[in-house]
Amino acid sequence: MLVVEAEAEPGGYCRTIHRAGFVWDYSGHFFHFKDPAIEAWLRARMPGQEVRTVVRRAAIRYAGRDIDFPFQKHIHQLPHDEFLECLVELYFRPTGDAPPRSFGDMLYRRFGKAITDKFLRPYNEKLYATDLDRLDVDAMGRFFPHADIADIIANMRPRTPGAGEGYNATFTYPAGGAVQYIHALLRDLPADTVSCGEPAVAIDLAAREVATPRRRIPFDRIVSSAPLPALARLCGMPHAPVFSANKVLVYNLGFDKKGPRDLHWLYFPDRSLAFYRVGFYDNILAPAPGAADRMSLYVEIGAAHDATFHIDTLRARVLGDLRHASIVTDHRLVSHHHVVLDPAYVHITQASLVETARLKAALAAHGVHSVGRYGGWTYCSIEDNLIETRALADALVAADLAQ
Ligand SMILES: Cc1cc2nc3c(=O)[nH]c(=O)nc-3n(C[C@H](O)[C@H](O)[C@H](O)COP(=O)(O)OP(=O)(O)OC[C@H]3O[C@@H](n4cnc5c(N)ncnc54)[C@H](O)[C@@H]3O)c2cc1C
Repeated sequence: MLVVEAEAEPGGYCRTIHRAGFVWDYSGHFFHFKDPAIEAWLRARMPGQEVRTVVRRAAIRYAGRDIDFPFQKHIHQLPHDEFLECLVELYFRPTGDAPPRSFGDMLYRRFGKAITDKFLRPYNEKLYATDLDRLDVDAMGRFFPHADIADIIANMRPRTPGAGEGYNATFTYPAGGAVQYIHALLRDLPADTVSCGEPAVAIDLAAREVATPRRRIPFDRIVSSAPLPALARLCGMPHAPVFSANKVLVYNLGFDKKGPRDLHWLYFPDRSLAFYRVGFYDNILAPAPGAADRMSLYVEIGAAHDATFHIDTLRARVLGDLRHASIVTDHRLVSHHHVVLDPAYVHITQASLVETARLKAALAAHGVHSVGRYGGWTYCSIEDNLIETRALADALVAADLAQ
């Protein structure tokens, strides 16, 4: 087995940067394992690594106050008149008989106009950088925090704020950053299994050869985590023009002193602010021994796939917006880093679902298996990627044994 990796190191979006004593990822990558056996397998390969289990504290900054996440279940924390508006619109929401046509339509018909217009639409439009009426009803799958009217009303009873909601109510994170999970995956492999800095530049399906800038590699099978449209191009396989995605610019920012203490991340629906989410690595990780307790942020900005970023200008705007949000006060920026995730959130539409299934089957018929979040043109977690690829490996081994 050989892995050719285009980048200089393995890990894809699950990589970690160490700078001026700060530990940063390609935006916060946290782990919400559903299968304890997978988590135990990984942890057994991370000896000496402190892995914290954290109870999530996430909130939405709305009109100057912090509302617990998810917004739709905490409307009772809004100013009184807005709470009543949300409640009345929720009760009289236009449910209709036919199923919702799109993600945007689903939001409106499930939660009513006020909840949708105050948070769900502006936040998701900032993130996806597209019209929500283009997206499939189930565009976010299990990552969308559904709630019906009974859940919303029941949640108005006093309880522990912020805890216990959604797929990532608790999560784990290693002291050495998200890449520790990648090191765990690589640990049992022979050293020469992964060839970094070697992109696949063409795949000849008839000759069963992969071309890289260094060599031609014969293959029996390929398992590819490249984005599906890119893989199709490498293979010379035409596809319908249905694949679109946003890109996300991530700024990692390190400051000289601590900021807010009791938050892991904040969502920002306010369209006048550049970012849709800001996370606090420093409230998740303990400071490294000897290092001062300092604010360490990731800031995420969603943009259309063809957007251009003026990195320094935009960083200055982000710092201004962080001041406006009272996250930065008299802090001094000590160190910074940025990365563009492209693609980041794919636009799942009815047409993309059909074309993804067709392309994956057509490629598999040539022994090319497209996997992962971008290989499947979907919305999923890293654990989902591990489960998918383990099942594929089992199926391929079983097929070999049966021959
Ligand atoms: C903003 C954001 C936050 C996220 N947060 C979380 C989180 O908290 N927890 C979580 O579980 N998941 C999170 N995810 C999802 C997670 O990043 C993905 O599920 C995961 O990275 C997918 O892994 P992958 O291997 O399929 O793809 P990738 O991470 O994209 O890796 C693909 C690899 O293929 C390589 N490659 C591509 N083309 C070629 C080529 N031609 N030749 C050779 N190599 C190539 C790339 O260099 C890369 O290393 C987040 C995603 C985003 C965008």
